[in-house]
Amino acid sequence: LPRFPGTLLLVCRTLRKHGFSCYIVGGALRNLALGTPPEDYDLATDAPPREVMKLFRRVIPTGIQHGTVTIVFRDHCYEVTTFRVETSYSDGRHPDEVRFTTSLEEDLSRRDFTINAMALDPLTGEFFDPFDGYSDIKRRLIKAIGNPEERFEEDALRILRAIRFATQLSFSIEQETYTAIGRHVEHLRRISWERIRDELSKIMEAVRPSRGFLQMEETGILSIVLPELEKCRGVLQSPPHRFDVLDHLLHTCDALPPSDPPLRWAGLLHDIGKPETLSEDDLGGIHFHRHEHVSSHLAQRILKRLKFPNAVIQDVSHLIRHHMFDYTPDWTDAAVRRFLHRTGPEYLERLIKLRIADRIGMTGETAPSHDLAGLKARAERLLAENTPLSIKDLAVDGHILQEDAGIPPGPWMGKTLRFLLDAVLEDPSQNTRARLTELARNFYTQRGKQH
Ligand code: ATP
Ligand code: MG
Repeated sequence: LPRFPGTLLLVCRTLRKHGFSCYIVGGALRNLALGTPPEDYDLATDAPPREVMKLFRRVIPTGIQHGTVTIVFRDHCYEVTTFRVETSYSDGRHPDEVRFTTSLEEDLSRRDFTINAMALDPLTGEFFDPFDGYSDIKRRLIKAIGNPEERFEEDALRILRAIRFATQLSFSIEQETYTAIGRHVEHLRRISWERIRDELSKIMEAVRPSRGFLQMEETGILSIVLPELEKCRGVLQSPPHRFDVLDHLLHTCDALPPSDPPLRWAGLLHDIGKPETLSEDDLGGIHFHRHEHVSSHLAQRILKRLKFPNAVIQDVSHLIRHHMFDYTPDWTDAAVRRFLHRTGPEYLERLIKLRIADRIGMTGETAPSHDLAGLKARAERLLAENTPLSIKDLAVDGHILQEDAGIPPGPWMGKTLRFLLDAVLEDPSQNTRARLTELARNFYTQRGKQH
């Protein structure tokens, strides 16, 4: 037995002292069997939720109608769920009735996959594994408990969970289970986008999300949860691209770090508008919208549908909108400044990562990226010098321009400030109060007064 956190043992001992049992279940046991340290512990008990609430000082009724409460300590939180059985699922997503039980066996048999239906008593070391989950872990296999058809009819989210676990753990999906997935994809339409999003997010944190997306394509899940991505299959691109748009997007996504999910979403969706913009090319050869704007817009719609928070949607769409830049060492400092102004200095590193991943996604091979390293170094030098990049960095403001240069408040003030910023991005030595006042006065007498 590994060394469990002291507070975990305390929870188990307290429940035991009051005549209840308490087992570790779920992801923590999978991790233990795989030799990776558990991140969080899900616990199962025969104590009714109200009893659990009484026994501990800080308990939050996080899902009390399903029997789940969360016990909070300074170092850890434990989700404790009362043994339960779920009677029937007439809608394919919520059990009609949750019935609590005192039987561990009954509780384990309502779970989704064999590898998720094990229980360990951390005090005695007793291990319950009625469906041979441990040997499926050793065989690296995702297998539904009992009849997969029935399990997916009860709760269609499980078909996406199967793919998620296979991707996260690099396991295969057992044949019968896999076949049943294909037969139940339509049932996913009843599942809320929030639950779908949570599973997709976990796929995005895997080492190679592409494995999951390819299985989603093969089973038909993709056409339901991300039809826009499915449309990229077979959309061909000219060299140096070696892949169609879908494979290109998957390679790009894999090449980005799992620790930055929004960046991975940007990688996955950065060319999502291509099926549309490439056909515009065929039709008339004229891009009315540049493709990164179409892609960024479409990505926003997709992430909104998946109920991602606004901050994430904005982050991803900003990355996509600015992912196309062709840096060459002959860019002037002014060009680097204009780039930083346009994209935002806080996006520098991630945009460069996205650019590199995009190139890897063209050929499947890592290409040298000296040029981008050069851009990073130059941008960092300019930032260290506090080079002016936005209107708030100018040596003048609206008040000064009104008093010293006679610019009236209103639309011309904005236009003038914008003009001054362009001048300063071009040549930052002009960023003095005297020079900018002079430039402003000339600009306004030549352009503003005529209107
Ligand atoms: P992780 O926490 O790493 O996502 P987990 O296996 O702990 O993995 P949870 O979603 O925390 O997954 O659920 C805990 C346990 O509850 C699972 O191991 C499984 O036994 C059971 N479970 C969760 N969702 C379902 C479901 N939709 N159908 C059946 N059992 C489920
Ligand atoms: Mg868990």
